[in-house]
Amino acid sequence: MPAMVILGAGTAVPDADRGHTHLLWHADGQRVLVDAAGDAFQRLLRAGHDPVALTAVILTHDHADHIAGVPGLLVQLGLAGRTASLPIYGPAAALTTVQRVLDALAPGQPLPLAWHVAIPGAAIVLPGMAPIATARTRHSRVCLALRFSAAGRSLTYTADTAPCPAIDALAAGTDYLLHEAGSAVPSASHSTPGEAGAAALRAGARHLVLVHFSPRQIMPAAAAIAAIRAAGYAGAASIAEEGDVYAW
Ligand SMILES: [Zn+2]
Repeated sequence: MPAMVILGAGTAVPDADRGHTHLLWHADGQRVLVDAAGDAFQRLLRAGHDPVALTAVILTHDHADHIAGVPGLLVQLGLAGRTASLPIYGPAAALTTVQRVLDALAPGQPLPLAWHVAIPGAAIVLPGMAPIATARTRHSRVCLALRFSAAGRSLTYTADTAPCPAIDALAAGTDYLLHEAGSAVPSASHSTPGEAGAAALRAGARHLVLVHFSPRQIMPAAAAIAAIRAAGYAGAASIAEEGDVYAW
């Protein structure tokens, strides 16, 4: 069954119960990790997925809370015995940053890696699964939003973004919209819960899920849901918790 697993659901500063937002897309026997906080390997294990069996890694952008865990994860995969090449996709800056840190931590690379620069707007095509559509978000770095499709439904993850037409276009008609809500007030790089609700309304999304969100740092959960309703979105709305699985 196609599923998106919430490995982390928090903002750039963790809470006790919310690490950096990162996800695992599991469909058609493939496992795609989206970003990696410091303990992605352990969180994959807790979610019941073998980290060594990852199909690919997609990095949305080169901010620390999205890629700082990747070099460590790659070392761990090598120590755990993975020998198959691992494809890594992302904006050029994200790949370069990970490569530089990895070179310092593990000269010679811990396992075979295949680096692929992802161009916003171009689909990421992996064997055995539907193409993953992408769009460039409105953020302080080049950042990829992703739309996953399987079995006639879709899930769109905004990554980090302020509201923008590219997100609206990517998310149009999506079933699940995992929208960041990393700001309490409108900003140039992030969205508020109310702006996420407005985006879900424009997209006609069936279910809005707030990620990159903290009830402690941004606003209480009830206030976030109220802001979504005040924006006019009447569909299902929830706040991602670590370990949640959105599946169909
Ligand atoms: Zn960011």
